[in-house]
Amino acid sequence: MSGQILPKKHHPIAPQAAPGTLADEILKALMFRVGKNANVATGHDWLNASIKVVRDRIVTSWIDSTERTYKAGGKRVYYLSLEFLIGRLMRDAFSNMGMLEEVREALASLGVDLDVIAELEPDAALGNGGLGRLAACFMESMATVDVPAHGYGIRYVHGLFRQEIHDGNQVELPETWLEHGNPWDFDRRERAYEIGFGGTVEAQTNELGQPSGNIWRPQERVLATAYDTPVVGWRGKRVNTLRLWSAIPIDPILLDAFNAGDHIGALKESNKAEALTRVLYPADSHLAGQELRLRQEYFFSAASLQDIINRHLGEYEDLTSLPDKAAIHLNDTHPAVAVAELMRLLLDSHGFQFEAAWDITRRTFGYTNHTLLPEALESWPIHVFEQLLPRHMQIVYAINAELLREARDKGLDDGQIRNISLIGEDGERRVRMGNLAFAGSHSINGVSALHTDLMKQTVFSDFHQLYPNRINNKTNGITQRRWLFQCNPALTSLIRETIGDRFMDDIEALQELDRFADDASFREKFAAVKRANKERLTRVVSERMGLNLDPSALFDIQVKRIHEYKRQLLNIIEAVALYDQIRSHPERDWVPRVKFFGGKAAPSYFNAKKIIKLANDVGRVINNDPAVRGLLKVVFIPNYNVSLAEVMMPAADLSEQISTAGMEASGTGNMKFALNGALTIGTLDGANVEMKEHVGDDNIVIFGLTAAEVKDARTNGYNPREAIENSPELSQALSAILSGVFSHDEPERYRGLIGGLYEHDTFMCAADFDSYADAQRRVDDLWRDSADWNRRAVHNTARMGWFSSDRTIRQYAGEIWDVPA
Ligand SMILES: *Cc1c(COP(=O)(O)O)cnc(C)c1O
Repeated sequence: MSGQILPKKHHPIAPQAAPGTLADEILKALMFRVGKNANVATGHDWLNASIKVVRDRIVTSWIDSTERTYKAGGKRVYYLSLEFLIGRLMRDAFSNMGMLEEVREALASLGVDLDVIAELEPDAALGNGGLGRLAACFMESMATVDVPAHGYGIRYVHGLFRQEIHDGNQVELPETWLEHGNPWDFDRRERAYEIGFGGTVEAQTNELGQPSGNIWRPQERVLATAYDTPVVGWRGKRVNTLRLWSAIPIDPILLDAFNAGDHIGALKESNKAEALTRVLYPADSHLAGQELRLRQEYFFSAASLQDIINRHLGEYEDLTSLPDKAAIHLNDTHPAVAVAELMRLLLDSHGFQFEAAWDITRRTFGYTNHTLLPEALESWPIHVFEQLLPRHMQIVYAINAELLREARDKGLDDGQIRNISLIGEDGERRVRMGNLAFAGSHSINGVSALHTDLMKQTVFSDFHQLYPNRINNKTNGITQRRWLFQCNPALTSLIRETIGDRFMDDIEALQELDRFADDASFREKFAAVKRANKERLTRVVSERMGLNLDPSALFDIQVKRIHEYKRQLLNIIEAVALYDQIRSHPERDWVPRVKFFGGKAAPSYFNAKKIIKLANDVGRVINNDPAVRGLLKVVFIPNYNVSLAEVMMPAADLSEQISTAGMEASGTGNMKFALNGALTIGTLDGANVEMKEHVGDDNIVIFGLTAAEVKDARTNGYNPREAIENSPELSQALSAILSGVFSHDEPERYRGLIGGLYEHDTFMCAADFDSYADAQRRVDDLWRDSADWNRRAVHNTARMGWFSSDRTIRQYAGEIWDVPA
């Protein structure tokens, strides 16, 4: 923002408020809960005080929801996720409580601007990208559709790194979201569980000398303590809990060491415990691989299971009824070790026989697969797994024996048995977490229709043959509260004026907007909202980057994690080709365009970082070339996160969803853009396929190979060099980059990245280039007829209601969890 923090530090007279008013409550909270008066309060203090006042009302509803669930004796959902990319919470919670405007007015009466203090709230980035954001949307939707649910994850001290761009390169800085404390969470010190690592397993015998189970004697122990954040559903009817675990050392051990004079040893232990939850691994769709990651996975899975079992046994006799009262969901394989942990608890602590334990486990767990990329399929070397979790290793072998016996009985061949095995035998023996999650769950779902089909044909084809009813589809969704109501209040108001408020409780009623697409006066209002949102983004870019953009240009946006399969490179190469065309054909009627890029690269992902550098290099040259006459700009906005997404989605004319077909499981950025009235240029990948069906073929621009064609090209020996040589535009663009047009200081800079395309082009950039460039010129044609463009944009907003995460959650509730919604 402008740097101005209201209120002025010293009021001549402290503001007053009539007793009993919200303003008065805020002043009291400032006084008695923050410990300041209005004369000295900073922006953070006002933010804190406002949150505390609304939080009190949330807590009332929270306790009420908890009691309601308890009395009903119904089933609860437990959503285990190593990531929750929640972003800022204030606007979300205030708005869902129906208090946003009331608080705004109360603060205004005290001389404080809500929008200014809102900017001070840290963006909680406890996730990398789509997977973590999905978990956050799901939490909000579960509360909204009245599913009693707990989210379980880790309270990382440092979320995803903050990205700065220095000289065109990504620089990673630590994220310090807890710097000013966290007014949202409740420290539940009394909710603490011991978590063990390492050590040995002792076989037990009874009085008769017969084997009677196994006891794990861990060598290390840490304590998991809970922090709870209330998650408010729409209209505040239900408030659920997001419970995040933090690791602390177990005091007695430390005291012993301390008393024995081993001060350094005691500190080391303490550091080791705290290191567990210090930082989120910044790899998206990529295996993190380090032992610390497995420790994190086990730590939060084990703490969550103890908590779930504890709650269950507080209400019911024993764990036989667990599957009827608890649906535990694994968000990807990160918590898959929970399958082995539940088995261990049932076998070793609760006296179940293997068969009964396995039955309970499978009826309790569900698993969502998020990617087919081989580099993201988690597996752990046997020796790492065994050393850290010796008892779990035994249990994995026992499960595997049972699984493979079943597979053999059903006639699967040796190759199939090898694929299904929980232990990968090619090269180093490894525990396959995807197979463990599959074997231990009654439901395995993909996240779009296409992804689910591919899952059946590829990674899990043999499992699918063994258990033909387990794989199902649940196409992802987004919460319209955050991704329309909050981030685009002007569009929300316009829709309310036009079709009334019904869509605010039933998002599919947005369809009623469809018939206004032909109403010229409505279209003009719709376009005016888009224009204002583009101006807002323009201001952000000008403040952060000192770059002035023309809001009347076509705003073409690609924001998401930087990954080769997402093909930011294809987009950049097209920009270079367009640049060349604009210079060679100045007489043509070019559509002014701004191409925005944003996204973080995993710190160790070499090519992704090169792509960021290239976007910045290309931008610098194009933006400063007078021959372009401002017709094309290329902008890389640093530090893409949820809060920035909230500004970008409403400001987009064109959404870039251009992954190599078959590689993006679903995407959710695609949904956020279209809901806010952007047209999509995209491949038939992930949820784009279903978006096309919903918005209609005329209102989306599709190009490129299909997933089946990509597969064929790969099996039939795709020749990228030939594809490049057959495309003069592409050849020219690649030669320009290779010859150092954008990197005079280091002409060889892109030899690996671009030169590599001629050799392998794993992601089919060359194969799709001409089709993509043609599609972009079709976009230009559509843009020239603004009435027609706006008609299509309205259809996008009107027809995206189905992509609400409320719909997704109702499907999970009915078809996987067996809970009412
Ligand atoms: C929605 C979202 C994502 C996911 O974007 P995709 O385009 O689906 O990869 C990633 N990061 C943030 C901050 C988001 O809001």
